[in-house]
Amino acid sequence: MSNALTGVHTVAVPAAANAPLVPPSPARVRALKRHLIESIRDMREARHPERLVQKRGEQPEGFAAEVVRAGCTQCRGNCCQGGGDHAYLDDRTMARVRAENPDLEAGAIIGLYVRSVATEGYESSCLFHGRFGCTLAQPLRAELCNAYYCNGLRDFLRMKPLPEKVEVVASRKGVVRRDTIVRHGRA
Ligand code: SF4
Ligand code: SF4
Repeated sequence: MSNALTGVHTVAVPAAANAPLVPPSPARVRALKRHLIESIRDMREARHPERLVQKRGEQPEGFAAEVVRAGCTQCRGNCCQGGGDHAYLDDRTMARVRAENPDLEAGAIIGLYVRSVATEGYESSCLFHGRFGCTLAQPLRAELCNAYYCNGLRDFLRMKPLPEKVEVVASRKGVVRRDTIVRHGRA
């Protein structure tokens, strides 16, 4: 929705309930490691692991990526709460990571994930759900995480051309959080 007077386009996203930011517990990190070990084992046991690899969809860049980041930061990860200690990672993700990094052994792959855990994350949400959004680099994220956008962000990304100025508004049950992003240059 754009305001004709101000030229500001509003992107509405949900807002996760307020939760404290806490360091990851050792038990949760151990659960993540166990999950990754199982996912890598499942990948190795697959008859044709190369067939598990799914192409990563195109990711937003520049201004579009800034708006997505701002939306997810203000929302605080409404769609990430189910990520728990597994972050939707599975044998398909491991097959893709391995295909893109053929020199990495299992231990090195697990290390990449463990080092990416949010040093402070929202309590009870995904281990990678930090103050400024997902702390996991997109090439390491699950297929679901790379493909999913809530309605507000999906509609924004479909706009052609993208607006020059966007206000993201995250709201839920009286909680409202906002941020404004202005496009500089052509990105
Ligand atoms: S995709 Fe939407 S629902 Fe999910 S964290 Fe981002 S703004 Fe929130
Ligand atoms: S890995 Fe990132 S995008 Fe996926 S559920 Fe966790 S915080 Fe959300």
